[in-house]
Amino acid sequence: MKTLYWLRNDLRIHDNRSLLLACSDSTHLDLIFCQNKSLKQAGPARRNYTYQTLLALQESLGNLGQHLHLHSESILHFLNQNSQFDRIICTASYNSIGRAEEAEIEGWCRQNGKAFETVDQLPLYLKRQLPFEIGKLKSFTPFRKKIEAGPGPEECVPTPEQLPPPQLPEQMNFDLQSEPVENHEAGELAGFQRLDHYLWGSQAALTYKQTRNGMIEFDDSTKLSPFLALGSLSPRLVYHRLKKFEAEVTENESTYWIYFELLWRDFFKFYALKHGPALFSLRGPKDRELDWTQDLERNRHWHKWSKGKTGQDFVDANMRELYQTGWMSNRGRQNVASYWAKHIYCDWRLGARWFEKQLIDYDTESNWGNWAYNSGVGPDPRDRKFDLDRQAEMYDADRSYRDLFLK
Ligand SMILES: Cc1cc2nc3c(=O)[nH]c(=O)nc-3n(C[C@H](O)[C@H](O)[C@H](O)COP(=O)(O)OP(=O)(O)OC[C@H]3O[C@@H](n4cnc5c(N)ncnc54)[C@H](O)[C@@H]3O)c2cc1C
Repeated sequence: MKTLYWLRNDLRIHDNRSLLLACSDSTHLDLIFCQNKSLKQAGPARRNYTYQTLLALQESLGNLGQHLHLHSESILHFLNQNSQFDRIICTASYNSIGRAEEAEIEGWCRQNGKAFETVDQLPLYLKRQLPFEIGKLKSFTPFRKKIEAGPGPEECVPTPEQLPPPQLPEQMNFDLQSEPVENHEAGELAGFQRLDHYLWGSQAALTYKQTRNGMIEFDDSTKLSPFLALGSLSPRLVYHRLKKFEAEVTENESTYWIYFELLWRDFFKFYALKHGPALFSLRGPKDRELDWTQDLERNRHWHKWSKGKTGQDFVDANMRELYQTGWMSNRGRQNVASYWAKHIYCDWRLGARWFEKQLIDYDTESNWGNWAYNSGVGPDPRDRKFDLDRQAEMYDADRSYRDLFLK
């Protein structure tokens, strides 16, 4: 059988269920990555980071006698030019944009007599492990409690030692010319190193709960999100290594809290799955009518907010960090989102789109879910609004973070 494996945010060889399925019963295997609309519109940091990840994957595949086709248009466009496959495989998306792409391919496969299979592997816990019907998902805490009461995450699947040969000569109709992103190395080997450093190397995992709101030091938090977002690290691999570290070194509140945050990632995946296109609508999944600022005034705010020139120095420092580096801490993200949607009442989706362009760890479900949460149209039962001066005082009392980006 001739198989095409369409890679999306599963850019790895290890613990990759889609890759294992794609290898099974295949005489030939072709792997392809297509540049979607979101990536085409990305700013330099996100594009660089994604390209660096793809370069790392190309190298790993090269070591296995394989290559990665790069296509600048949609997968459907590629299939219309290259239809000599018996089946197409991809990792199942949890958001309505990715699912619409899958529906299109499914239709094409049906018309053309090909098989199409999607594989569930994006969150730490798989769909079949959700202990209740997805329609009953509401807020994070009941989700976490029910998940924690059930069986743990599944084991990682084996890493293939060889792959079937490709059918097509390497096709690359966009090139991966890019700069490394400062501090954030890309690809699965770099992901393993970062994880091992945070656990066994610096043992920063032991103090994560105390440092995770820090905005300056690299080890304040794990910095695993870029790897997880592009799939160069599997959440199950992170989980099992964390458990190994707990067994070998120490288990404490901080090590538990890393797992706790991975559950937030899962929560937003399932939340996106439940709400479909509503996740991208102005009224949000909560279907809430709010009094948003009118276009003209909003445009004025937009230029100031996106470039870090609002005059609110805590917001400005964070927005400049994002624009300059493609990174912002979780603390910063919550504050700038709260400012945009709850202080100046601007259409929350513009904020989410700006993050989508800039963030090196852009992840559809986490980004749009967190934005909805912080804008009053998502799953925050308390509908919190941040007191920005107080936040600055709590998390940057000596102004060292603000000085870093405002001077
Ligand atoms: C407005 C807004 C937008 C966001 N956009 C994204 C995004 O596009 N991509 C993204 O990965 N995260 C996003 N987050 C969540 C969070 O800010 C980042 O995951 C985190 O800052 C990444 O740093 P870290 O890897 O050091 O996280 P750590 O604090 O070390 O956490 C470990 C892992 O847990 C997961 N995690 C932690 N917090 C969250 C959270 N609130 N929601 C979902 N997963 C979480 C991440 O995978 C992270 O790598 C957003 C948060 C907000 C408030």
